[in-house]
Formats: sequence, structure tokens, C-alpha cells
Amino acid sequence: MADGSELRSRPGDGKLIRGACGHDCPDTCSWLVEVQDGRAGRLYGDPSHPFTRGTLCAKVNHYLERVYHPERVLYPLRRVGVRGAGEFRRISWQEALSEIAERWQRIIVEYGGEAILPFSSAGNQGLIQHSSLDQRLGGLLGFSRLDRNICGAVAHQGLSATQGNGVGINPEDLIHSRLIVLWGTNTIVTNLHLWPVILSARSRGAKIVVVDPVRTRTAEAADWHLAVRPGSDTVLALAMMHVIIRDGLVDRDYVDRYSTGYEQLSEHVQQFAPDRVAEDTGLSAEEIERFAREYATVQPSLLRPLIGLEHHRNGAMMFRTLACLPILTGAWRHRGGGLCRSTGAFQFSMLNMEELLMPWLQKPGVRTLNMRDLGRDLLSTELRPPIQSLLIYNSNPAVSLPNQHLVRQGLTRDDLFTVVHDLFLTDTARFADIVLPATSQIEHLDLVPSWGHHYVSMNRPAIAPEGESVANTELFRRLAACLGRTESWLFESDETLLRTALRTSHPMMSGITYETLLEHGYQHLNHPEDWRPFAEGGFPTASGRAELFSERLLREGHEALPSPGEIRRAGAGQLQLISGKTLHYLNTGYSHMERHRGREGRLRIEINEDDARRRGLSDGERVRVFNERGEIIALCAISESVRPGVASIPFGGVVDEAGVRRHINCLTPEEATDWGGGSGFYDTFVDVERSPVDLEN
Ligand code: SF4
Repeated sequence: MADGSELRSRPGDGKLIRGACGHDCPDTCSWLVEVQDGRAGRLYGDPSHPFTRGTLCAKVNHYLERVYHPERVLYPLRRVGVRGAGEFRRISWQEALSEIAERWQRIIVEYGGEAILPFSSAGNQGLIQHSSLDQRLGGLLGFSRLDRNICGAVAHQGLSATQGNGVGINPEDLIHSRLIVLWGTNTIVTNLHLWPVILSARSRGAKIVVVDPVRTRTAEAADWHLAVRPGSDTVLALAMMHVIIRDGLVDRDYVDRYSTGYEQLSEHVQQFAPDRVAEDTGLSAEEIERFAREYATVQPSLLRPLIGLEHHRNGAMMFRTLACLPILTGAWRHRGGGLCRSTGAFQFSMLNMEELLMPWLQKPGVRTLNMRDLGRDLLSTELRPPIQSLLIYNSNPAVSLPNQHLVRQGLTRDDLFTVVHDLFLTDTARFADIVLPATSQIEHLDLVPSWGHHYVSMNRPAIAPEGESVANTELFRRLAACLGRTESWLFESDETLLRTALRTSHPMMSGITYETLLEHGYQHLNHPEDWRPFAEGGFPTASGRAELFSERLLREGHEALPSPGEIRRAGAGQLQLISGKTLHYLNTGYSHMERHRGREGRLRIEINEDDARRRGLSDGERVRVFNERGEIIALCAISESVRPGVASIPFGGVVDEAGVRRHINCLTPEEATDWGGGSGFYDTFVDVERSPVDLEN
């Protein structure tokens, strides 16, 4: 019906088409696209959406420039130059698919299906364009599986250790909060539609506290900024627990009814008296005491821990530890109280993912490789079978993964056959043997669950696919056909796939159907307006209680009680490098667009005045930021926004101040987080010195 392929012959001329942003962003904005003569003339926020309220962000306000960008890949391409040089010639789909089929069949015969690794991430957050037919085909052919959890799973597993899952309150309920703690999140930049909710809460008397090593725009706008030392968030939370327990601020009724391990925790946190650990946290003992008391006594109090915490080596323990706080204070009882992180897993848990993904197709024993390790795995001499082919979609690993040089080295392997499906000749696509053109969000059908609110959205295609571009689902249909497969479930239409996902008996999806979503564009989950997930316990742990002491963690070799975890500190003369998202780029997305580049300006690294003085650096001069993994050239920005010992750099763009295509991930380590499969991006330590590169320019 409203399938993208049908629109090739019947575009929505003269119509307003409802859609939803599919970027990796919690807001999942609803939008409207005006189409005339098969061309989208205007794309703007849907004013009727109660959460996103008709505004899009600075990136997506110009989405149509992205759709119609002259550099967009519109046809299949075959590499003609050396890997990485970006030299290609146009070929037909037939030619591309024949080569893929021929190479893959040879690899499967010689090495087995595991030698082929489909690699994808959150480049498209739509349900079926993110995961559907790709999983079915990969499962059937025994391709290596990819653990796509580079950050979010860290938080989910950390929270689950304490509360059994990652569920939090409805983000719209923040309006009822009286103390809002934004912990490791720059809400104004990365979650902009939540900010008005927070401001409304403030106008009703709420206080906004930001815990962040960097004085971000959000920290600047808050009532109180606690510039914690990177990685020591666990110590701060343990010191808060010390104060809360010592001063009798525990909701004993809630703790006794709904948790386990209180006695062990009480004893454990005695060692975290604020005056003993203040220095570790970078805060004063008075600040910690005051924060703990306000947190415990002002209700409803709400913790919003987000991405910043996931990027530390002790990331899972951070979430596990923070999750103990609302248990102790009983904040979950109150509307607007408790904890609020991603709503993504919550929404996915209501959909019929089993039938959509058909996990029973997976061959037993097929290996799973973590995306973080791509560079290592590509270069490994021990991996059996070695990776012989990559199929990359929804992802740009040459810049988004840590230890970029290792990843790029792997991608230059002569014997590696790489296929990339993307809208642009990304840094990864430049290494490909074959590049296939991908559709933009206004050219395909999808359902978009949100990880930042409780609305499910339908994204209808507004225009026919540009050039010869195809959606991910269509790509996998074509791959299945060229490999000679005939199973009907490999060729299901997008509409059929969505109907399958929506065939669910979950009560919160009651009344949400394919038809109603087509009609309304979005729908709120079906739960009572006053919905408090843990007001009366009901934690889905093994014990059925919140686990302040966790037997499971103990069995898995972790500390059973919340703990500081491994906190790394900079070596002599080094700075800890924190990277944050920017307004005009989405990671490296949009950085090829002149308008966005112009607004982001030149690459700057923020350094505290003391640190700059010690290195003899002055504001605006070009500096070399380096460690054992790589280097990047940036402008020095002396700033009060970062504490001594910390440097801050934006995560975006791929061309540095020396005009070289490199990204801050050439500095980040690919070491694993404590658990959860993530990467300690923020455990990056660098030296900064005056750049030897010619300063003219
Ligand atoms: S990137 Fe986020 S804020 Fe921007 S339009 Fe998409 S969902 Fe909305």
C-alpha cells in the first residue's frame, strides 16, 4: 500500500506526507513533507505532535538539502582507485549484485558463512530499516553476528543489575519533578524537545542540577552545575548514599518492601564519607553533602543519566550505582520521581520482534563479534575463519569506532571484499569495493520507535527513491535473490514486515495498528496518564526486588555492591579528552554540507587556563593533540568550561585543522567497558602541544 516501491509510480504529488526522523536521537520528531511534481518542496516539524511540537533541530531543518545534495550516491559504484582514495565508476545494479553473489559464494565455499560480517549500527533508527530482512538473511546463511552495543547496552545492563530492566518514567512526566538531575547529558543540544518540559517543571518550582565534567550549554542554563571529575560519578553517588543513610533520609518503608541488600549497602557506603572522597570527585565535601540532602529531601526527585556516562570504562557500574539512589529515597513512589533514561528497549519489548527477526534461523554456534573490535578483528591472524567480506549499512565505522587507525588499517586489507550501502561517499565507503545507493528517510516506509518519549511514529515515504537508491529492506531482498534464495519470508514487503512487528498483544500497544498509525502518524503508548513503573516495586529481577546487593553480579565476576569501578586518571602532563555532540552535525553526518560546516566553525579543543599556561599555549593557536594511537590538529580555546586536567572537543567533522581527514576517534581506545559490551571512549588521555604545522591559513 504505502510501500516505497509503489511510490515510484504514484508519488504523493500535491500532498502533505507525515513522517518521522530516523536519526540516532531520542526525540524522534514528527515531520510533514510537502510534495509537488514528485519533488519534496518543504519539510518541517509537525505542530500537532505533543512532544516535538513542530520544531526540528538545526541539523534536520535543512534535511531536504541532504536529500537533494549533489554529492549524494545515486547509483551503484565500483572502486577503481586504491582503497580510501574515493575513486569509483558507475555500474549497474545487475553488475554489482553479480559481483557480490560471485564473491560471497566463493567465500562461503572456502571459509563458511561466518567469514562474511554484516556491519550496521544506529544510522537509521527506523524499525525495519534498522533490523528485519538483514537478520533473516544473515541468520539463514550463517553470517557472523554483530554485537551492535557500543554504548546503550552498557547503561541498560547497569540499570538492569539494580532494577531488573532499564525502564524509567515517561519523559513527559518530568513536568512533575521538583529536582531534576541531568547526569552526563547535554540536553539542550542532544535532546532539545525535553528541555521545554524541564523548563516547565522549573516554572512550577523545580530545580535543575547538571552533573558533568564540562560546563555545557545545559550546565550553563541549569540552577546548579557540579563539575565532577570524569569517571568518578560512581564515587559521587556512593558518597550521596553515605549521607542519605547516615542522616536517616532513607525511605525505609520502600526499601524494606521492595529491595534487597540494604544492610550490606549501609555498611559498604560507610567508607565513602564526603570528606574522604571529595578529592576523587573534584567536588567539595560541602557540595556533596548539600547535593545528597537536596536529592533525598526534595521530592519528586528525578535522575536522568544518559550517554556521557556510557562512555567510561566503568560505565555499567555507573548506571548500576546511580540506580540505587531512587530506591533508597523511594523517589519511584512519586509522579515525576525515579529515573529516566532511554525508552528504546521499553518500546521494542512491546513489538513482535521474534517474528520480525526470526532468530530461530540463526545457526547454532555462529560467532558474535563486537562492533568495537572491528579493527582488531579485521587484522587478526587468529580469527577463524578470518573476515573475508564486510557488508556495511547504517554505519560509518571508519570514523565512528574507537581507535580509528586500526579500523582504517583493517579496511585497507587487499583480500577484504567490502560492500557499503549509504547515501554518501562516507569515509568508510571510500574503502569499499562496491558502494550501493541508499534511500533517505523520506523515500521509504518505516515505523520509528523512540528512545526519548512514549510515542510510536509511522514514517511514510513522501517521494520515490532518488536515482537508483533502495531502502535497506529492498537491498536485502535483492541480495537474497542474487544468492538464489527463494524463501518467501526473505522477500516480504515493508508493509508486511511492519504488520508483523505490530502483531502484538502487549497492553500498551492496544489500539495501535498499522492503519491507525497511517492515519494519525504517531500514537502514544497505551498506559494510564499517571503511570509510575516502580511505585509499588515490581522490579523484574530474579528476587523480584531492587537488588542493592546483587548475587547475579557476584556470580558473573563483578562486585555485588555498587562500587567506584575502574577509574583511570591521566598520566603526568596528560589531559583527559571528553568529546560531545554538536548542534549541526550528527556524529560526522551533515559535516559534508557547507551550511553545517559553516555553522560549526573550525575544530577547537577547550582547555582550562591553568593547563594552557603550563603548556605555554595561547587562545586561538593551533595545537597538536596526540597520544600513542594518533594525533589531530585543532585550535586551542582557553575556557573556564572545562576543569583542570580535562579537555573537551566536539565529536563531528572529519577534516581537522591541518586539512587532513581524521577524527577524534583516532585518539580513543577500543578497550571494553566493565560489562555491557561498550567502549571507554572517554578514557582517552592526550598530550597537547603547539602544532608544528604551518600556522598560516
Ligand atoms: S535529529 Fe533529533 S531533534 Fe533533530 S529532527 Fe531528528 S529526532 Fe528531531
